[in-house]
Amino acid sequence: LVTETLKGMDAIDPEVAAFLARNDHAIDDAKKIDQAGIKADQPLAGMPIAIKDNIVTKDLTTTASSKMLENFVPIYNATVMDKLAAAGAINVGKTNLDEFAMGSSTETSALKTTKNAWDHTKVPGGSSGGSAAAVASGQVPVALGSDTGGSIRQPAAFNGIFGFKPTYGRVSRWGLIAFSSSLDAIGTLSRSVRDSVPVMNTIIGQDDRDSTTVDRPAEDLGAKIGQSMAGMKIALPKEYLGEGVDAAVADQIKAAAEQFKAMGATVEEVSLPHTKYAVPAYYIIASSEASSNLQRFDGIRYGFRAKDVKTLDDVYVRSRSEGFGAEVKRRIMLGTFSLSAGFYDAYFKKAGQIRTLITQDFETVFKDYDLIMAPTTPTPAFKIGDKVTDPVVMYMNDILTISVNLAGLPAASVPAGFVDGMPVGMQLIGKHFDEATIYQAAAAFE
Ligand code: GLN
Repeated sequence: LVTETLKGMDAIDPEVAAFLARNDHAIDDAKKIDQAGIKADQPLAGMPIAIKDNIVTKDLTTTASSKMLENFVPIYNATVMDKLAAAGAINVGKTNLDEFAMGSSTETSALKTTKNAWDHTKVPGGSSGGSAAAVASGQVPVALGSDTGGSIRQPAAFNGIFGFKPTYGRVSRWGLIAFSSSLDAIGTLSRSVRDSVPVMNTIIGQDDRDSTTVDRPAEDLGAKIGQSMAGMKIALPKEYLGEGVDAAVADQIKAAAEQFKAMGATVEEVSLPHTKYAVPAYYIIASSEASSNLQRFDGIRYGFRAKDVKTLDDVYVRSRSEGFGAEVKRRIMLGTFSLSAGFYDAYFKKAGQIRTLITQDFETVFKDYDLIMAPTTPTPAFKIGDKVTDPVVMYMNDILTISVNLAGLPAASVPAGFVDGMPVGMQLIGKHFDEATIYQAAAAFE
């Protein structure tokens, strides 16, 4: 299986450009499993998986698609990598992303331009665009991604595959290159709903190295797959079908609602009134945390160092100026500004207050409903180059995914039809730690 996967990558990836690096040890890793015999605790034995390149992999270059880390070879594995290896999965390679996961189209990558699997003139979405394109072009059945504001769900929607972001605290981020620590989550992109479950079941769990992980009894997140949808109460927020959302995309979601009703579920319109503040609040919080997290890239400890530097200040200033791309610098400046003494109350503190209101909106709806359904994105995938020059237009593309991260909820994107020949996604949002209901509805719909 791994041999055939690598052959497929040779044939397909020169055009799609999903991968930044291949794991040269993939075949040896698979042979070791064959020789030892598959063990009962290896549910993923021999399964090829691609890994977003902001997840550190021992002895295999990990770049975050930045010049800053272009030649960085980690000396340790992320917790999720150790867990996958123990379960027998084979990492076949590292996938492209927006630089440090900042973006919605994979165009801010300093290293490559990845194509949408359905139309090579269009973006694959982002920031997990490489993982999405690798799965959708048939190169791998499943890939890991990270989701800070939609980076798993949005590219999954743009490529017509299944994307899953767990509850904040479900999966250890030890070894995930930190973007925004109060929002970051690791999850899967896969060809089917069922392909995601064993991978998620493998990577969940408390980890002493990530203090935000939650200690819970062993769970099968797919336990409710196959159960009837009869009686399930689904909410459809009106703000997610309104202004800025393509009418044709909204129509696909309304059609999906009819399908759920035909299965015996109820679908009713609700309101999440603070939705309109999600984009500004998210971009202040995410940029503030990023400005702090990215301080470690100083040209001293690891990563890029500018040439011919004369003073210590030169090392810092020139290494960071030359090593980071424009979008990353924009976020660092925005974040540093909103955290500064004179503006903290007006920006960072306000954004935190809005975050609470957005979380309360969800809590109110979840008192009466089991699940929320919505579109994943306002439009299908756009053309490469179309939005990259206007950050605000690019940020608005995230309007439907970022509230979920602000509230720490689990959510998925399920393929829900086509608009103008391009796939669109339906988003399913669950209660905290109720991933099982998302999988149940996603599998029923798929
Ligand atoms: N597009 C969002 C951003 O640029 C989300 C990115 C992400 O989830 N990593 O911040």
